[in-house]
Amino acid sequence: MSRYEKQLLLPEFTQEHQDLLKNTKLLMVGAGGLGAPALPYLAGAGIGHITIVDDDVVDISNLHRQTIFKTSDAGKNKAELTAAYLRELNPEIKITAVLQRLNVGDDIDGFDIILDGTDNFESKQLLNELSIRSKTPLVAASVEGFNGTVAIFAGFDKNAPCYHCLFPELPLDCKSCVEGGILGTVAGLAGMYQAHLTLCFLLGIGDVKPGTILSLDFKTMRTQALQLEKNPECAACGKAQYGARREKIEAPVIPLLHPDELKDHVVVDVRTFEETFEKPIENALHIPLQDIPGRYAELPTDRPIAFICRSNKRSRVAAEYLYARGYKNVCVLDALAA
Ligand SMILES: [Zn+2]
Repeated sequence: MSRYEKQLLLPEFTQEHQDLLKNTKLLMVGAGGLGAPALPYLAGAGIGHITIVDDDVVDISNLHRQTIFKTSDAGKNKAELTAAYLRELNPEIKITAVLQRLNVGDDIDGFDIILDGTDNFESKQLLNELSIRSKTPLVAASVEGFNGTVAIFAGFDKNAPCYHCLFPELPLDCKSCVEGGILGTVAGLAGMYQAHLTLCFLLGIGDVKPGTILSLDFKTMRTQALQLEKNPECAACGKAQYGARREKIEAPVIPLLHPDELKDHVVVDVRTFEETFEKPIENALHIPLQDIPGRYAELPTDRPIAFICRSNKRSRVAAEYLYARGYKNVCVLDALAA
């Protein structure tokens, strides 16, 4: 009892909640920047069975954000080290380490929840597919620079979105930590938000449900909670998953607009807050790309919409996202790209 005493003192947290956590089988894919901060809290809370998948080894450059590892751990497998750490933290729960990479053909049935601690888009798409196939909710997290996104997906549910509903296209200018650099606390905070969202979801605390997206800006300290709807046309979880196969949807052709061709367009700047601050665009509405799913309804349906960003890539993602939602008069404003 004393191990969980402090959470059991909360009016929101009863012995039933504790038992629920004890009976939960959690899969964490990746024991790096997100898994390392998230897992100790999940083990500490009493999640009964935690499986950690990671084939990677500790590098000295990981330590500023993956603080469960020590300098002497360099070269050792992360899943194995994390399992040892968690077993000492809470010997009453079961921990399994899998020292491999997850593959498309893998069978991941039997888990109650999957946590995405990977750092690249391909792995995230794969986890999304496995989540849909095994009908297991997915708590995804990602960081880039000073921005974090943490969200819950359940594409197998006909009313809940999947990861692909949010990111239908490869975000071309998204950098991984390796390329883009990261402050240790940013990864740590995102991992802890992921653990927190997982606990709230499992315990039914607050209004956390599939489709909940937390958009975190660790520079302005701005946090937004959004609710994403399922995209009925989503290639990963749309209608095709439930009924008969449907016709292949043609990819929309998004026109590229020269600034001279602007008429009564609503110009939407989809860059980050810091980019907009550095180089503002006059008369543009600012909605960062990651907020588009939660805010696109603010845009008028009876006027043409032109998206603008640094390299036209995020603009294209935004335009295609709106196109799929019935906004047929969308384009990319080719003004900033070199
Ligand atoms: Zn989807």
